[in-house]
Amino acid sequence: MAIGAGKLSDTAKNVAEILDLDLIIVPTLACACAAYSPYSVDYDDEHRFLGVPVHPRNSIALLVDSSLIARAGADKLVGGIGDTIAKWYESAPVFDQASDLTVFDRLAYHSAHLIHDMLLEESEPGLEAVRAGDYDNEHVRTLINTIIGLAGTVGGFGGVRARESGAHSVHDGLTRVAGAAATMHGEKVAYGVLVQLLVEGKESEVQALLPFYATIGLPHSWRQMNLEFTDGNLQTVADFAAGPDSPFHAAVPGVTPAQIIEAMRTLETLA
Ligand SMILES: [Zn+2]
Repeated sequence: MAIGAGKLSDTAKNVAEILDLDLIIVPTLACACAAYSPYSVDYDDEHRFLGVPVHPRNSIALLVDSSLIARAGADKLVGGIGDTIAKWYESAPVFDQASDLTVFDRLAYHSAHLIHDMLLEESEPGLEAVRAGDYDNEHVRTLINTIIGLAGTVGGFGGVRARESGAHSVHDGLTRVAGAAATMHGEKVAYGVLVQLLVEGKESEVQALLPFYATIGLPHSWRQMNLEFTDGNLQTVADFAAGPDSPFHAAVPGVTPAQIIEAMRTLETLA
């Protein structure tokens, strides 16, 4: 039984596969859909991204007590909101380019869109309730169910096409920059959403999201992530995010480091 947050459940999933054991997960944070998903995100000792092994079996049970999770505080939920809003922005361009969507892909697509709408509606009242200590609150429950449960259905039904694309590639690149481990996974992913949208040429969508980011406290600049905005660091992130094996190519086929650097430079000038 794994009782803890994303790192713990990801480690437990790896161990359960090695030992061929059934696993029950009890998440104590809602920072991502790690508790629901059948894969682990692995890092090295310096917290640099290594890979995402997909396990042959999922946990046999996932027990969610939203009032327990809410007690971890609003900041942790902000990270979860950032990771989860990416479900829509990362999967929609991949699905939009596909001509062979199954009914399950379409279910994943609609689920990702519902997640987007739920987060825009429920984040503010949910966070307010948590800050007020009102843990047994309908908005809080809906927010946590969206981050853990609904988010898991996107990759669950849509498979690899509904998993990571541009935003997580930027996140993975950011983990190679000194000091990035101090920022939550979901905050770096949320920043990556904006970079991906700019690479896609969707600046109006970035402008539409920025007030939401400002309201709930998601970062849209390197300063907000306490990272040094240097040419070398930009190149490190862009080279990794546009690498040959990067899932960014699923959203923007042939994306180049130069496009990603330009997007990051543009983003610093917005808002
Ligand atoms: Zn994530």
